Amino acid sequence: SKRPNVDAIIRPDFKFEDMGIGGLDKEFTSIFRRAFASRIFPPGLIEKLGIQHVKGMLLYGPPGTGKTLIARQIGKMLNAREPKIVNGPEILSKYVGSSEENIRNLFKDAETEYKQKGDSSSLHIIIFDELDSIFKQRGSRGDGTGVADNVVNQLLAKMDGVDQLNNILVIGMTNRKDLIDEALLRPGRFEVQVEIHLPDEDGRHQILMIKTKKMRENGALAEDVDLYKLAKLSKNFSGAELEGLVKSATSFALSRHIKVGTVGQITGDLSNVVVGMDCFVNALN
Ligand code: ATP
Repeated sequence: SKRPNVDAIIRPDFKFEDMGIGGLDKEFTSIFRRAFASRIFPPGLIEKLGIQHVKGMLLYGPPGTGKTLIARQIGKMLNAREPKIVNGPEILSKYVGSSEENIRNLFKDAETEYKQKGDSSSLHIIIFDELDSIFKQRGSRGDGTGVADNVVNQLLAKMDGVDQLNNILVIGMTNRKDLIDEALLRPGRFEVQVEIHLPDEDGRHQILMIKTKKMRENGALAEDVDLYKLAKLSKNFSGAELEGLVKSATSFALSRHIKVGTVGQITGDLSNVVVGMDCFVNALN
């Protein structure tokens, strides 16, 4: 049978250009093809083909490179529920004693909806940020609490159990793939693994375009601002750092327009603040 036409089936109102993701076209496509394409098959096709949806995916790479952003945007595209994001260290510390229960609770909404609606349930995405912080401690915690072990075991049990549910995707994120237990990367677990790199120069330019979009639309970005040049100058910056650069340039521009009086009163005209190249250069240093 013919492969479904992805463009026709995915929400036609959703375009990659509008997603606010800079420089990750290849990664986005790869993630979509490998982990999500089966989710847009017509009902029944996946059973016909005798395959199963991907239930777990690992996104790895430096911090602040857009891993969470990609996961969120693909979720939106598929009308998934707002993802549940949990943070590794938080699970370990905050929920000592109840961490296993906490993991179970994460899956509860999806399980309930699946019981009621079966395959017409919406997709539930569960994101484990800083996944390595849980797993690197497995079996190596000297404090004898075994919290990390329990969390890992509970998560594995849950992920293996997800086989019976078609409405869950667990996404793990890490800066240190090398610390992730091999047992987790097996088929049926975090089986799709995609690296998210720091943006290259072209990617940095795209991200700067995205982060200055509002400013450009409102005439608040000075003509002399050369985003190509800034992309050159910001080697090794992550998306998050580029966002930070735009923020500091803006606050630098704002600060020049205001005076803070001796009793803290602020005066000045902020009606025509323009962020110039000098503000960016200042923020870079
Ligand atoms: P961490 O590993 O620290 O959790 P992450 O890779 O999940 O980070 P995000 O949370 O997705 O990173 O991004 C952090 C911030 O930087 C967000 O505000 C996001 O919009 C911005 N950002 C990062 N990368 C990109 C990108 N490629 N395009 C647009 N914005 C980006």
